Amino acid sequence: MSAKARPRTAESDEPAAPTPVALEDLPGVGGAIADKLREAGYTDLMELAVASPSDVAEAAEIGTATAQKIISEARRQADVGGFESGVTLLERRQKLGRVTTGAKSLDDLLGGGVETQAITEFSGEFGTGKTQLAHQIAVNIQLPVDQGGLASETVYIDTESTFRPERIVDMAKGVGLDPTEALGKIHIARAFNSNHQMLLVGKAQELARERPIRLIVVDSLTAHFRSEYMGRGELAPRQQLLNRHLHELLRFGATFNAAIVVTNQVSARPDILFGDPTRPIGGNIVAHAATYRVYLRKSKPPKRIARLIDSPNLPEGEAVFSLTGEGIRE
Ligand code: ATP
Ligand code: MG
Repeated sequence: MSAKARPRTAESDEPAAPTPVALEDLPGVGGAIADKLREAGYTDLMELAVASPSDVAEAAEIGTATAQKIISEARRQADVGGFESGVTLLERRQKLGRVTTGAKSLDDLLGGGVETQAITEFSGEFGTGKTQLAHQIAVNIQLPVDQGGLASETVYIDTESTFRPERIVDMAKGVGLDPTEALGKIHIARAFNSNHQMLLVGKAQELARERPIRLIVVDSLTAHFRSEYMGRGELAPRQQLLNRHLHELLRFGATFNAAIVVTNQVSARPDILFGDPTRPIGGNIVAHAATYRVYLRKSKPPKRIARLIDSPNLPEGEAVFSLTGEGIRE
């Protein structure tokens, strides 16, 4: 597909994807800087407007003060960043989309399903259903709004080669979607390492200009970071990169009113880096960036128990759901 407009559906009343503008029009942005910014994924005003000065400085190899000036001007031109009344904020929050997980109990725990413009983390030990949930949400988002979807498509970043098209076929049938069409609306990329994983968010932005992408799945968010930055001395750089990755994901969520679903293993053994065996990896970095953190554990098969941890606006609680052949069910 070429640079044609994002297809709109009757169910989705989202604004069109931002129109690319010449970054060169911003004061202080020459051709070389504009190229570097675009390479780093800053292709329009909105993305610059919501970026942090240090990220922009690093991407364009300029000083933070210059980056701040560029961002301020992008904000002015994109008309963002001023004060908003509570009414406007409420209206924006009312635009938030929600996607069903397939289990009402789990949807209720999340306040009505997986939310757009936010990161939802599913953590838990192996076999607790993180990957199954990721598959199911990638299917369900395709449903019309009145059936719990957003009539939209998914970018699925697979870091552990556990994406299974066969499961999508089962789950699509389970919700009455055509399996081949459902597979066509999930854009899968295998991430070979953490660096590649981060680059893929930029690729997702490009794709989102052509396709109605309203969900990014990262399964697993932390596996590459964890295996590449093993030593104690590497904890700081690892957390820094993970932080950047999460903020790029959040930026995607804000720009495209998209949901971000990430999975995270818990530390299997107590060791110096991850002392608590039930703590999701990535510690406070993930804790700060993720709006909804759901910790999964096994129960009597095929049941799983989900617990919501540290949510800003929802009570802590638990939900039981089942992993079935057709997918996630009550
Ligand atoms: P890991 O940490 O290893 O990635 P995970 O949390 O991603 O684990 P999943 O792969 O989501 O775990 O869950 C695997 C479980 O899903 C299986 O143990 C099984 O209970 C269930 N499952 C997978 N496929 C099917 C199927 N076709 N029919 C029924 N249940 C299934
Ligand atoms: Mg998995």
